[in-house]
Amino acid sequence: MIFKQLAHLPIIFKVDENILDQIGAILRQHNLSFGSILVLSGSSFSEQISQRLIANFDKRECKHEVVQNNSTQEVQRLRNIIQSHRFDLLIAVGGGKVLDTVKRLSLLTSINHLSIPTIISNDGLISPIAVLTNEQGKTESLPATMPMGVIIDLDVVNRAPIKFMRAAAGDILSNISATHDWVIANKKQREPINDIAYELSRSSASGLINFSDTNFQNKAFIRQIIYGQVNSGLAMSLAGTSRPCSGSEHLLSHAIDHLGYSEDLLHGIQVGTLSLFCLFLQKKLKKVHLEYAKKTDIPLLPNDLNAKIENQLSEIFELGKSIRVGRYTILDEISNEEFLDEYEKYRSHISSTI
Ligand SMILES: [Zn+2]
Repeated sequence: MIFKQLAHLPIIFKVDENILDQIGAILRQHNLSFGSILVLSGSSFSEQISQRLIANFDKRECKHEVVQNNSTQEVQRLRNIIQSHRFDLLIAVGGGKVLDTVKRLSLLTSINHLSIPTIISNDGLISPIAVLTNEQGKTESLPATMPMGVIIDLDVVNRAPIKFMRAAAGDILSNISATHDWVIANKKQREPINDIAYELSRSSASGLINFSDTNFQNKAFIRQIIYGQVNSGLAMSLAGTSRPCSGSEHLLSHAIDHLGYSEDLLHGIQVGTLSLFCLFLQKKLKKVHLEYAKKTDIPLLPNDLNAKIENQLSEIFELGKSIRVGRYTILDEISNEEFLDEYEKYRSHISSTI
C-alpha cells in the first residue's frame, strides 16, 4: 500500500534493541512500500547510522542528504532537492535539529516522514512543531507534520553521551509544575483543561518519578524515559498547545536563555531544576521530586546551573512573566518581592534536606 495521506499521529511506533537493520521489514509488516526514499541526517554519528540504514534498501530507491543546520534557508535548499525528485518518503536520522528540519520539510512538501532519533533529550520528538532559526538568526517555532513512524533503537540512543538522557529525565519534571499551573489558570482564568492531555502528561511524569531503579545503565528505565517523552509530545498534540508540559518553569527557563545564562546547559536539565523551585512556589514540592532529581543528577538549586542566576532573579522573574502573553502561571499570583522571598525560603529548605 502506498501511504499518501499525511500522518496526524504516528502509525508505526517501535522502541527496541538492535532494530535499525529491521526498518525495511517493519515497513513491509505494515504493508507499506515506497518507490523513492530520501534519508536526511547530520554529518557525523548520524551519518554513519544512516549509511547502515540505507544498506537495508535497494540503492536505486534510496538517496542521502546531510542537513547542514536547522535554518529556514537550509529548509529551502532541501525543499528544492526534494521537489526536483519524486521522493515518496523522507527518513530523518539524528538529533532534534535534523528531526525538526525534516518535520518542517514534510509539511512543506506533503511527503510523509519517519523519525529515527540518535539522541533523546526532550519532549520535541513527537509534535507538530519545528524549532528552526530564521534569517535573523532568531529561534522560531513553526508548524510541521507529525512523523508517520518513530523507530528508536536503544543501542543507538545509548551511544549518545549520558547528559542527553539526563536532560530527558529532567524535562519530565516540568510536566508536574506545568500541570499545576494549568489548574491555576483554569481556576483564575477559566482556561479549559483537556483531561486526557492532563493525565497523559501527569502519568508520564509519575511513571518515571516512582520508577524503582533510576539508573541510566538500566534499559527498562531508558525505555520509560522514552515513553515519558513520547507521551508528553502526544499530550501537547492533543491539547493543541504546549500547556501540559510547559508552565512557569519553562517561562523562567526562556528568560534565562534570553539573558544569556544558559550557555552549554541542556534545556531538560535547566527546566528540571527550575521545576523544583516552581513546585515550591506552588506549595506542591514533595520529597519524591527531590529524591528523583538527586538520583538523576539534576541540580536542586538554579545557582548550580549558573552562578549568575541568583544575582538576576528579579530580572528573570519580570522577563519570564512577560515572555509569553496569555500563559497564566504561579508567577502571575506573586509579586517580585514575594518571588525573591520564596527563593530564600527554597534555598534554606534545600540546605535542610541535603
Ligand atoms: Zn521542555
